[in-house]
Amino acid sequence: MAFESLANRLQKVFSKLRGKGKLTEDDVSEALREVRLALLEADVNFKVVKEFIAKVKERAIGQEVLQSFTPAMIVVDIVNKELTELMGGSQSKLARSNRPPTVILMVGLQGAGKTTASAKLARMLLQQNHRPLLAAGDIYRPAAIKQLQVLGEQIKVPVFTMGDQVSPVEIAKNALQHAKDHGNDYLIVDTAGRLHIDESLMDELKQITEAVKPDEILLVVDAMTGQESVNVAESFHKQLTLSGVILTKLDSDTRGGAAISVKAVTGCPIKFVGMGEKMEALEPFHPERMASRILG
Ligand code: GDP
Repeated sequence: MAFESLANRLQKVFSKLRGKGKLTEDDVSEALREVRLALLEADVNFKVVKEFIAKVKERAIGQEVLQSFTPAMIVVDIVNKELTELMGGSQSKLARSNRPPTVILMVGLQGAGKTTASAKLARMLLQQNHRPLLAAGDIYRPAAIKQLQVLGEQIKVPVFTMGDQVSPVEIAKNALQHAKDHGNDYLIVDTAGRLHIDESLMDELKQITEAVKPDEILLVVDAMTGQESVNVAESFHKQLTLSGVILTKLDSDTRGGAAISVKAVTGCPIKFVGMGEKMEALEPFHPERMASRILG
């Protein structure tokens, strides 16, 4: 389960608090100290934790809370609401252009799960009765094109390819024309990743952006890399103005720091989470449900 240790720790802190009945200011401060430690150990960004605890404290230490009949419940409720807010408040939906096709550019570093997420997203759109087209633009990673073709066949979504000898910009442009000609209402362009962020990667992505004017630029990041994924998101966002993040491998992430801090650090919402290698393992990200999952 994702967030295992964080969820366990927070549940312990709050059950202790509930066991106390009436609460003093010190009880709440003590509990929040433990929440702070738990969040830091979950690899949540330090500044984010600091601001979060300050906000919760401000709301939780008032007389109305302490003198109420169920102070612990109110404190948990405040934590729940602030955690939801931190992760973006409400669900952030996928864009839909009123001049189809809606163009979605998938960007990210190699191994983050970009190709897999592209296919998963296409499958989800197909299930919602859309007519997605996938475009294979990752010409640098050996076998990335083949991988997308195999997945496309599996999920019954067409894959546009021009091989690996044509520039990704040309591939994207041609794919867009192909989508228009064939009545595809969504175009998902899988772009090339690199091992690290470098200028040539960003230049290429900017050129593709210029050429096909995407409605969505979704960054795919690996939840298991914790704060590193948040830093990656920050760098991409500065250069490309992302519209959202897909956080992959949340099924294997026991800490949860990335899910909690990405929005707060970058201002960019998480739109989907990857919950496994299978094609159906993609879920819309619901901040409120995620907060409840963490708090138990
Ligand atoms: P790309 O280089 O970014 O295109 O990465 P791939 O899409 O090839 O994915 C890299 C590896 O991560 C593959 O083995 C995928 O099966 C795996 N993967 C992708 N998404 C998830 C996920 O949500 N959960 C898990 N457990 N594995 C994933």
